[in-house]
Amino acid sequence: MNKLNIKKNDTVVVVAGKDKGKKGKVLSAIPSKNRVVVEGVNFATVHTSPQKTGGKDSGIMRREASLHVSNVMRVCPKCNEPTRAAHSFLEDGTKVRVCKKCNETI
Ligand SMILES: [Zn+2]
Repeated sequence: MNKLNIKKNDTVVVVAGKDKGKKGKVLSAIPSKNRVVVEGVNFATVHTSPQKTGGKDSGIMRREASLHVSNVMRVCPKCNEPTRAAHSFLEDGTKVRVCKKCNETI
């Protein structure tokens, strides 16, 4: 079902776009769209329409917009380096993710 290799609460670093280099925690993952929402990254300005509020409460809200997963890379919680996890199997056949940098199971 979940084809994303990035999950909620993973730490990721942005590798493309205006927020390149920023790190943050994944707030939510949207596997059907291959998108993730990352804390503090890709803020989008949402204008509140004055027409809808009778001209009084026109305002600007800022909140995180989703990013395509190809624009982020998972950060290894062990060595704190951006990494693409390799898949490996334990002796009992359990599939695990392994950091290619430090070889720790992540
Ligand atoms: Zn690592």
